Amino acid sequence: MCNTALVMGTGVSGSGAISLLTRSGWRVCVYDGAGARVPEGCEDRSFLPPELALRGVDLLVLSPGVPLTDDMVTYAKLCGIEVIGEIELGYRYSRGDIVAVTGTNGKTTVTLLIKKILECAGIESYALGNIGSSFSAVADKVDEGAVVVLELSSFQLESIVKFRSKYAVCLNITPDHYERHGSFEEYADAKRKIFLNQKASDYAVLNYDDETVRSFEQDVASKVYFFSTHQKVKGCYLEGGRIYFADSGVEYIASADELRIKGEHNIANALAAITAAKLMGIKKQAIVKALRTFSAPRFRMQYCGTIKGKRVYNDSKATNIDSTLKACGAMKGSTALIMGGYDKSISYGQFFANLPATVKRIIVTGDNAESIKEDLPAEHDYSFEILPSLYLAAVKAFEGEEENVLFSPSTSSFDRFADFEERGEAFDCIVRAIGCGED
Ligand code: ADP
Repeated sequence: MCNTALVMGTGVSGSGAISLLTRSGWRVCVYDGAGARVPEGCEDRSFLPPELALRGVDLLVLSPGVPLTDDMVTYAKLCGIEVIGEIELGYRYSRGDIVAVTGTNGKTTVTLLIKKILECAGIESYALGNIGSSFSAVADKVDEGAVVVLELSSFQLESIVKFRSKYAVCLNITPDHYERHGSFEEYADAKRKIFLNQKASDYAVLNYDDETVRSFEQDVASKVYFFSTHQKVKGCYLEGGRIYFADSGVEYIASADELRIKGEHNIANALAAITAAKLMGIKKQAIVKALRTFSAPRFRMQYCGTIKGKRVYNDSKATNIDSTLKACGAMKGSTALIMGGYDKSISYGQFFANLPATVKRIIVTGDNAESIKEDLPAEHDYSFEILPSLYLAAVKAFEGEEENVLFSPSTSSFDRFADFEERGEAFDCIVRAIGCGED
């Protein structure tokens, strides 16, 4: 008799889990809401109460969207049923070395840059996880000797049990996802789990410039290397615009000017990727080739061209305050910032306190507009306006004198869009229309 698994969620992660379990001989039941895609051969247990949905089940597999506080999880644990997340499932069937990447911002950029470096070094590699392709969908098909670069969110890390990666990278931790984790401490704890099962023969790559991430050094059992844009560290650092890797000796890697990705945050991202690559034993030539050719994925400070005399950037992927501050800091010259979106109930006090002086106008649109306004300091040098739609906000941004128009929402898109990609497409479409008729 084969074992039975119940998979909660039938999105990208859930579908990957279902396919892996099916290939591996499990009997698979699924649980989701209306419109769930129930693959042939699986039993649909959606809408059943936990005691019926879990009947005969040996393993409960969670998609990242399902919190550990869900009634199904509580009931499964009471019944002694093992509960794991999709990443843990993939891990149990995987071969090959794993490089795991987490952090509040920069995960996709660093995951793809590490993959690019591996490609330049001629090493078979996969970029999986929180990046649109689930780990489970391919975990058992990866050849020994290939490298899996796994982008991991706090939601995915929450439900790991034995998951262990040879190389684990933590980029930064700034306020986000309190709706799920409750507090900064709990959010940081979820991120810290990336190092949970590492052994002395593994490697941890930590951001020295981020106090929370730096403090993880005390907890990890693996060998710690840092990256820093400010300090000489054991690992990768920036000095006088030059990138070095220091271990037993110091090796010059490249000039920061050689990077195609721009902004200090992207230099930090590159340092993180280089550290992981050096620890994997990859030669400098392959690293430098990747740094010179790698460009940021879409909607990450994406340059849309010069329209009506202004440089226009689409940073729709900026879904938290720190990513928007970094984008503002990367702008050269005066900037009109378009921001706002889903209301995450996060304070904007720190945002206004750290806003670069180059931002001359802030144009807000979206559900959190009024709550952003509540945190506006009594005195400020920039103008602040609320507009009812992204289109009107963009039109307004083009009316001023500023050299740059930056769309960097600082929050999620769910108030008006399906996701950041749809929001990014909408902004692209709007600026094309605004630029229409230009010579
Ligand atoms: P993630 O996968 O963690 O969401 P991305 O690489 O997709 O990260 O970038 C998301 C947003 O964060 C973009 O707006 C990008 O410009 C910004 N960003 C990228 N790297 C960093 C970083 N190291 N610190 C702060 N913001 C960053």
